[in-house]
Amino acid sequence: MTKPVLIVGGGLAGLFCALKLSPRPVTILAAAPLGAGASSAWAQGGIAAAIAEGDTPEKHTADTIAAGAGLVDAEMALGMAREAGDRVRDLLFYGVPFDKDLEGQLVQSREAAHSERRIVRVRGDMAGKAIMEALVDAVRRTPSITVHESESAEKLHLTAGRVTGVISRGPTGKARLFSGDQIVLATGGIGHLYAVTTNPVQSSGIGISMAAEAGAVIADAEFVQFHPTAIAIGRDPAPLATEALRGEGAIMVNKAGKRFMQVLHPDAELAPRDIVARAVFAELQAGRGAFLDCRTAIGARFADAFPTVDAACSSAGINPATDLIPIAPAEHYHMGGVLTDKAGRTTLPGLWAVGEVASTGVHGANRLASNSLLEAIVFAARIAEVIPAPLHSAPPVAFAAGPEILPDPETLDMLRQTMADHVGVIRTSLGLKTAIWTLADIEATAASPHLAAMARAALFIAAAAYDREESRGGHFRSDFPGPVPTLAHRSRLTVTELRTIVNAVLAGA
Ligand SMILES: Cc1cc2nc3c(=O)[nH]c(=O)nc-3n(C[C@H](O)[C@H](O)[C@H](O)COP(=O)(O)OP(=O)(O)OC[C@H]3O[C@@H](n4cnc5c(N)ncnc54)[C@H](O)[C@@H]3O)c2cc1C
Repeated sequence: MTKPVLIVGGGLAGLFCALKLSPRPVTILAAAPLGAGASSAWAQGGIAAAIAEGDTPEKHTADTIAAGAGLVDAEMALGMAREAGDRVRDLLFYGVPFDKDLEGQLVQSREAAHSERRIVRVRGDMAGKAIMEALVDAVRRTPSITVHESESAEKLHLTAGRVTGVISRGPTGKARLFSGDQIVLATGGIGHLYAVTTNPVQSSGIGISMAAEAGAVIADAEFVQFHPTAIAIGRDPAPLATEALRGEGAIMVNKAGKRFMQVLHPDAELAPRDIVARAVFAELQAGRGAFLDCRTAIGARFADAFPTVDAACSSAGINPATDLIPIAPAEHYHMGGVLTDKAGRTTLPGLWAVGEVASTGVHGANRLASNSLLEAIVFAARIAEVIPAPLHSAPPVAFAAGPEILPDPETLDMLRQTMADHVGVIRTSLGLKTAIWTLADIEATAASPHLAAMARAALFIAAAAYDREESRGGHFRSDFPGPVPTLAHRSRLTVTELRTIVNAVLAGA
């Protein structure tokens, strides 16, 4: 009998890969119940696909390259743009109710830094929820897919340098080993390494940490995208005011009612995210406040057009039709991750990576809005096409790994605040060294393996940011404020190279 492929993660990347593999058997481990604990379900904008008349994959690629600040792998990006139409059709087949016009054609909207209206959406800001509902339903109806929910992977099991399983903990907290020699990592992003994030708590960077510890190469770790318009009402994770609001004409003002983006960029509020995020950060640092003003552009249509944002605002007593929405930058997306080739293969035999945990090179130093859901489905489908049948796998067995130790909240807060203060929107050499000291100490002393793994993932970001002495895309160093042409290449780090950078900093070099 064919043995199951193991997929770690139940977001869009993991579920889409499982569905594309059907009828081949698949076992999914997901840290939360399906549909929860995944950024995918929270996506508000939609999926970029150059399928409208007059639009082309080449134009989409040109926009992707422009956003990526010199580091986009053009061949990867073009390949992705070319497959967008087929993958959106797959989603329609799985039952995703994308918005259509009266003739039954997909309706597409425009988002920041896209030269065309090319985002397929669902009822304004409901894309992620609708996509995940359809996929979860399809997965539950597919007999070849077995799902273990609330099952958190902790470590990859290795035999002679190749992956042979995943050690995880289920709802009882007991460790067990899922054996398997073809493993797809789809664990999502790193948001909870930062004090302010739009990501669910499961986005803890653990996928990067597990892969690196097993020997995989991590690429572009320093490139983190901060969303400029998280809604600043003190919630963790912070709710998001989608970019589509600015696409519809919403403006940004400070507490004096002054627009601050017009003087900074010709596209004003629709400038690339990193520029907008730094501007919001600067207004907040200067005590001038930062707000999204949707009153004129959207006004009374708000609740119908953007129900998710409306609900988040209402929970804090804000009515976006008549009130300003307070905003702050928040960790939103990680361009870096586990290095893969165009088929989703990592550098470690038997290990594949897809979705936000992967680094395919399509985003370069900064992601173009709505390209991440697209990347997840394009590369998940490619993995499903080429991944070999596993030679070996077995049902889960108890594994001797000691009792589960949860992160202690104070140290976790310290980790997240350190990342926000020193590895965030604006970085400096001194701040990054401070972060490396703190994170290395947490990694070495944490009683909780999960916390140590988070610290390791955070160290990859801090060390790569320290190493890159320039500013580019999502990575801004106030001590090196411009791009350096000779540094226009992607970064790669193994865990051994990470240790070299960390040890040099600790030694005061
Ligand atoms: C608020 C918000 C809005 C966004 N809007 C858009 C948008 O409009 N368009 C767009 O293209 N992108 C958007 N993004 C980004 C996009 O949603 C994500 O990049 C994408 O959904 C990532 O998909 P994924 O499957 O890789 O990860 P996720 O959807 O985050 O799924 C990861 C899965 O792995 C599981 N997991 C994590 N750790 C473990 C573990 N140790 N063991 C087992 N399972 C684990 C999680 O529980 C989850 O099931 C948005 C992101 C956010 C947060």
